[in-house]
Amino acid sequence: MEIQPSRQSDDTDLRRAYVHLAEAQRLSQTGSFTWDFDRGELLWSEELCRIFEFDPATTITTDLVGQFVHPADLPAFAATLEGAAAGGDVDLPYRIVTASGVLKHLHAVGHRIDYDAERPVIIGAVQDVTERKVAEEALDRARADLAHVARVATLSALTASIAHEVNQPLTSLVTNASTCVRMLAADPPNLDLARTTAQRTIRDANRASEVIQRLRAMFVRNEPAAEAVDLNEAAAEILALTSSELLSARVEVHADFADALPSIRGDRIQLQQVMLNLVLNARDAMLAVDDRPRTLRIATIADGPGQVRFSVRDAGSGVAPDSLGRLFDAFYTTKSEGMGIGLSISQSIIQGHEGRIWAAPNEDGPGATFSFSLPFGVADSPEPVSKDL
Ligand code: ADP
Repeated sequence: MEIQPSRQSDDTDLRRAYVHLAEAQRLSQTGSFTWDFDRGELLWSEELCRIFEFDPATTITTDLVGQFVHPADLPAFAATLEGAAAGGDVDLPYRIVTASGVLKHLHAVGHRIDYDAERPVIIGAVQDVTERKVAEEALDRARADLAHVARVATLSALTASIAHEVNQPLTSLVTNASTCVRMLAADPPNLDLARTTAQRTIRDANRASEVIQRLRAMFVRNEPAAEAVDLNEAAAEILALTSSELLSARVEVHADFADALPSIRGDRIQLQQVMLNLVLNARDAMLAVDDRPRTLRIATIADGPGQVRFSVRDAGSGVAPDSLGRLFDAFYTTKSEGMGIGLSISQSIIQGHEGRIWAAPNEDGPGATFSFSLPFGVADSPEPVSKDL
């Protein structure tokens, strides 16, 4: 005899399925909704009401929901509603501020279902991703702190070089000011030359103040910037900053900067931190070299479609093939005083700029070449190592 399921067991199954679903939604902090946009009807699950702090009896409308969306996310929210009504998919990270003032990060996904051609609806899910977001932000901040501390430590080890960089325009300033005084004291005073040397004095004073401003920017912890960066200019500054350091290590520097290199969008200080790491590593790799010139070649080049490349080539110890894969790992170092974080931070910075960084042994001589390439005209803001370094 065939057993017909009783109506009661239907109800029990349905109730069980409902409890199961509601519990799963609670556990995953994911609510669901159905939106019948022709009739303006929104059906929300209990969990979605809980996420928004709405009473489950509330009549929900898109206008009501919009009142709780973070003002900065409202345009994207409105565009997604419009797109969804026109048949597009929903995939929207956004923030809300609930009635009790809690800021939440949500992620909505959904799509249109035409199971009744007369009455298409949008079915979707909204997940509360606040905890993950907060954890990601804490990680970003920790990375940024580490990168900042590493930069300051590197710069602090360059005190002599920095003093030289600051001193140069100051010396020329004093010379020009003294010449100016002499020209004025002459009989008759040489006013033309006095004027010229006074103008040079102003130029040198401006240069000195620029140098100090640049150095200050490298020491302080700035908000991340998404500015136009000229890699040639940035690299020239790093060479100026390290020149006496490289000179005292008997490193011969050759610069080969491409003309008319497109600017990239990014954080100049972060990118200079990478350049500084690569240049100082190249110097370190050549400290034991005594049988050949300690040549360092620093170059920029337009690299394939939409990319610019920066590279530092040395004639140092080189990298063994089996350590190539570990160079960018945190705490990998072969130096007695090394920390092993320079390349790992450099990699985070370059990846945050949607770029790539790599090392390769030189094929036509001793040493290695470290390079990074960055897209230009694409990235609006560096994700970075995050945010502020
Ligand atoms: P650290 O300089 O403190 O060791 P890094 O992360 O900057 O940390 O570098 C990690 C390791 O990568 C170095 O210890 C070294 O073994 C290797 N390395 C980096 N640059 C070069 C280079 N130009 N030539 C050879 N090895 C290098």
